[in-house]
Amino acid sequence: NPLMASEKEAALAAAPPSDSPTIFDKIINKEIPSTVVFEDDKVLAFRDISPQAPTHILIIPKVKDGLSGLSKAEERHFEILGRLLYTAKLVAKQEGLEDGFRIVINDGPSGCQSVYHLHIHLLGGRQMNWPPG
Ligand code: 5GP
Repeated sequence: NPLMASEKEAALAAAPPSDSPTIFDKIINKEIPSTVVFEDDKVLAFRDISPQAPTHILIIPKVKDGLSGLSKAEERHFEILGRLLYTAKLVAKQEGLEDGFRIVINDGPSGCQSVYHLHIHLLGGRQMNWPPG
């Protein structure tokens, strides 16, 4: 939405219904381009358009199934949740992040989530700091 001044402002808006489509559907369907680094029948991993580290990749389920965020997870999601985390490990290896990396899942307005389709951020290639902002 061009009226949103920033990612942060978008993140502070109310969370949409868990089955609403997002821009990630267009990325999954290749209607908008992205740099895909891993893909199988269940999972897609692509470079973040606004990288916060030398490596910044988003790992998402191809079928949202109500998973607008981790807070919406149910028992039926156990398998996809495991696959997403395991894919993060595979992609970290593929990216050569031998010294370490960080994964992040933002949830809801307080977690600064802006896209309501579950995604794992994989960040690496520089020293991370703690606590995060
Ligand atoms: P969140 O703030 O919801 O945890 O993360 C959403 C992420 O999606 C942000 O880091 C943002 O840069 C990224 N993003 C938003 N729109 C696009 C897009 O169209 N393409 C790509 N590659 N990343 C996007």
